[in-house]
Amino acid sequence: ISLEKLTKVYGRGDSRTVVLDGLDFSVASGEIFAVVGPSGAGKSTLAHCVNLLERPTSGAVLVNGENLSRLSEKQLRVARRSIGTIFQADGLFSRRTAAANVALPLDYLGATPAETKRRVGELLERVGLSDKASSYPHQLSGGQRQRVGIARALALRPSILLSDEATSGLDPESTASIVDLLKELRDDLDLSILFITHEMDTVLQVADSVARLDHGHIVESGALVDLLRDA
Ligand code: ADP
Ligand code: ADP
Repeated sequence: ISLEKLTKVYGRGDSRTVVLDGLDFSVASGEIFAVVGPSGAGKSTLAHCVNLLERPTSGAVLVNGENLSRLSEKQLRVARRSIGTIFQADGLFSRRTAAANVALPLDYLGATPAETKRRVGELLERVGLSDKASSYPHQLSGGQRQRVGIARALALRPSILLSDEATSGLDPESTASIVDLLKELRDDLDLSILFITHEMDTVLQVADSVARLDHGHIVESGALVDLLRDA
């Protein structure tokens, strides 16, 4: 995934606010790229532009070389499948089991019950929750619920995983287990992972590369090891 001069402006005239000002970066497959910044930096807006909930004012989001900003609504619905998103609140349906939550995107696409069952089994195994298929969200820990959210995000075999404050609010132990899982997914599935957070501690654990976002600008970016060396 690449951003080319991604710009988002809200309002006009006196109330015009430039929330993202010409962001340029790319995330390679097999890479975890973290964007870290304080509240108000523009992180949520960036996440929404990347998962196509919002259109950029100018500039582009390219996925596998294709400019998503140019697509029609119908094409966008298809393109969205190449991006799996995990959110801070896991967003699980409380009256559905872990397995039924993971099955949602597959049901939506009209997979057969047999296909869905096989795929859900595979996905729960991948996130280490095979034994929790029949558990309801309230029977799971915060870290386990987030794993179910990750399994659901992977259901349609995306090439990109967008993590929007996915570890915020988790205790250090659960955060570490989610970090380990993301690294495993990066390596095994060759995913491009865009990890957006306000938590520098987590960035140090998870990222291969980092961009620091402040007031809609990238103020520093590079490989984590290089940034640490210069700090
Ligand atoms: P973060 O997620 O880093 O806290 P946001 O992307 O939520 O940052 O917000 C960045 C800035 O954009 C803030 O100053 C916020 O007030 C402004 N902003 C966000 N959404 C809108 C909107 N719909 N209209 C006007 N300003 C907005
Ligand atoms: P295969 O080509 O047989 O799917 P892979 O090595 O690509 O083999 O994948 C290994 C496992 O991961 C398989 O169970 C596959 O279904 C699953 N898998 C592959 N790609 C993705 C993806 N993008 N998201 C979720 N699961 C995936």
